[in-house]
Amino acid sequence: MNATLTVLGSGTSMGVPTIGCPCSVCRSSDPHDRRTRPSVLIDTTPDFREQAIRENISQIDAVLYTHSHADHILGIDDLRPLSYHRRGKIPLYARPEAADYIRNMFRYIFDADYKFGGLAQLELKPVDGAFDLFGATFEPVPIIHGETEIFGYRFGTAAYLTDFSQIPKESFALLQGLDVLFLDGLRHQPHPTHSTVENSIRIASELKAKRVFFTHICHDLPHAATNATLPEHVRLSYDGMKLEFEI
Ligand SMILES: [Zn+2]
Ligand SMILES: [Zn+2]
Ligand SMILES: [Zn+2]
Repeated sequence: MNATLTVLGSGTSMGVPTIGCPCSVCRSSDPHDRRTRPSVLIDTTPDFREQAIRENISQIDAVLYTHSHADHILGIDDLRPLSYHRRGKIPLYARPEAADYIRNMFRYIFDADYKFGGLAQLELKPVDGAFDLFGATFEPVPIIHGETEIFGYRFGTAAYLTDFSQIPKESFALLQGLDVLFLDGLRHQPHPTHSTVENSIRIASELKAKRVFFTHICHDLPHAATNATLPEHVRLSYDGMKLEFEI
């Protein structure tokens, strides 16, 4: 089955431009340097509303959450209009701890007694292994984000691994034979919870994916100038990028 993957956002938690920052990437006129919070139609970032309008999204069948950090979940309430135009609640897949966190953080959505207007019709589905959706298999890939383990996902010949500082050896087995691989590529300087460009290039060559894209990119990396330094099959992703792949 052919599928299209759309990069809703390619930026780090604060987005690029970063509020109040006068650096050259934040002031760049290259549209590739405007990065909303990271998502490939996985996660609901604080920019989800703007991203969904930009991409003309009129239907969502499920949301897969990588983890419960603010830059990946705060757009949950903007699922409201999409949840009204369908039969049944939108299923939200997440690791059990992330599902608990989301349930607590957004109690008004999941508790039945909210009386102040329309609520998003959502249903949390904790997962700890592969699951089937719409005829395709989605496989959680455990990755290490600082001191916690979170999920990336593999679906068909593509995998999306954002927010990691390390990939455990056992997860390498789940990442063989990939056509498209998204990796955390925050910046050059080491960070306690994110991967660097250099580390992700090393991982990319070890995994031998055909096409590799970095995401969760901060304002240290100008789009065109950084791409010019990367191996040919490795590129910075950008908001609005679309990729065809086999699922
Ligand atoms: Zn993040
Ligand atoms: Zn900046
Ligand atoms: Zn995070």
